Amino acid sequence: MKYQNIYQARSAVVDACNQMTKLGINQGTSGNISLRYDNIMLISPSGIPYENMEPGDIVEMTMDGEWHASKGMVPSSEWRFHLDILKNKPAVNAVVHAHPTYCTTLAILNKPIPAIHYMIAVGGKNDIPCAPYATYGTEELSEYALAALRDHHACLLANHGMIATGKSLEKAMWTALEVEVLAHQYHACLQVGEPVLLSDDEIDRVLKKWGEYGLRESN
Ligand code: 13P
Ligand code: ZN
Repeated sequence: MKYQNIYQARSAVVDACNQMTKLGINQGTSGNISLRYDNIMLISPSGIPYENMEPGDIVEMTMDGEWHASKGMVPSSEWRFHLDILKNKPAVNAVVHAHPTYCTTLAILNKPIPAIHYMIAVGGKNDIPCAPYATYGTEELSEYALAALRDHHACLLANHGMIATGKSLEKAMWTALEVEVLAHQYHACLQVGEPVLLSDDEIDRVLKKWGEYGLRESN
């Protein structure tokens, strides 16, 4: 197992939350992170600024949605989609949700990111889809997110932000940052003209190449 004990896993969630701020993909109390540990989900608490978060603040939740927290913490308001993703996608062990500026800008335009660059393959397909809008924290939002993530590792959430998933926390964070870079590039292209898109065949080729290379699969 990657983490020797639950404390290490809780610390990894806190570190990843702070890393989001350092990378400039999130701020304040926006966003949330979950990590599968054994048969439970560890999730960041709701409404706590990351710089004040401690490993003991991370909430434990069973796959049935029962939770246990200390110091009056409650699970992130988005626990439903975190739990639904972990339950429905066994290959996923970590979920990162954030409101990065360019992803959110495109999400406000309800625009998926097309194949502007071969790095679109971080999402596992030839685009990063945009799930329809639903109020934060609702089952409806979870259903939309899960549908958008059925064949993808990442998606935008209309008028809200983005979700990135991964086999590990490191991989989910890497995907989150790469998707924000793609969103920035697409936004820049839209200021100038119509971007030239890569073909589906080319993205398939890239995905195969990455499969052979095993890109960060150890993470
Ligand atoms: P939480 O503080 O409850 O995790 O909510 C932040 C957020 O991004 C809701 O969508
Ligand atoms: Zn959010």
